[in-house]
Amino acid sequence: MKKEVLGIQFDDLTREEAAQAGAALLAEDKFHYVVTPNPEFILASERDSEFRNVLNGADLVLADGIGVVYSAKILGTPLKERVPGVEFADDMLACLNERGGRLYLLGARPGVAEEAGQRIVERYSNIVLCGTQDGYFKDEEAVLLKVAAARPDLLFVCLGAPKQEKWMARWGRHTGARLAIGLGGALDVFAGQVERAPDSWQRLGLEWAYRLKKEPQRAGRMARLPLVLVKAAGQRLKKRT
Ligand code: UDP
Repeated sequence: MKKEVLGIQFDDLTREEAAQAGAALLAEDKFHYVVTPNPEFILASERDSEFRNVLNGADLVLADGIGVVYSAKILGTPLKERVPGVEFADDMLACLNERGGRLYLLGARPGVAEEAGQRIVERYSNIVLCGTQDGYFKDEEAVLLKVAAARPDLLFVCLGAPKQEKWMARWGRHTGARLAIGLGGALDVFAGQVERAPDSWQRLGLEWAYRLKKEPQRAGRMARLPLVLVKAAGQRLKKRT
């Protein structure tokens, strides 16, 4: 079931339900893409209708960010829980590993995708790392050809938003992959270059605060995030009057 948060139609799923839905997409013999919007995506999509359409056109739209969950609650259409992209990605790796399959990692700074891939195949021995490409390229079509030649089943696209979502919507179906997922900084996490917040912080809905502590240079970017809550409150009040 879809629930709208400020123009974006989210799938109202638990992590487990999202994993089941993702597994079904990975089993089908056609292309699908999954997006993991956080509050920054919502703000950006207000000014970029192409981005909004690409997000709403995805096969799964997962709420990656406590700000999305709070906004949905304020709007009176609560979502079951936050589904962090990196956790969904991990579930899809486990699923690919069960049946055996090919993984391509696209994005992040040079060297990061290789390191992430190496760590992934150490954990999941039935996964073949069929290719990697850093995220600082100019020729989109050349990258598409490279990805398609590697014949992936599962493709992680980690170019930051909205670049990764637009890349998936434009080129994804030509890659031959069954499932592409837009995952922001997830390759940095898989490569061990960025640490996720400890469980205790995550349970309190404070992963964003941990990230701010570790990467204070994000303060400017993050300062706008409460705006999403303010907008949700405004919309709720408008509905009431
Ligand atoms: N990135 C990239 N190409 C670009 C811009 C960014 O590959 O042109 C990568 C960047 O190295 C990082 C990821 O995309 O690994 C996005 O990180 P960001 O912090 O923006 O995403 P978030 O984790 O907030 O979703």
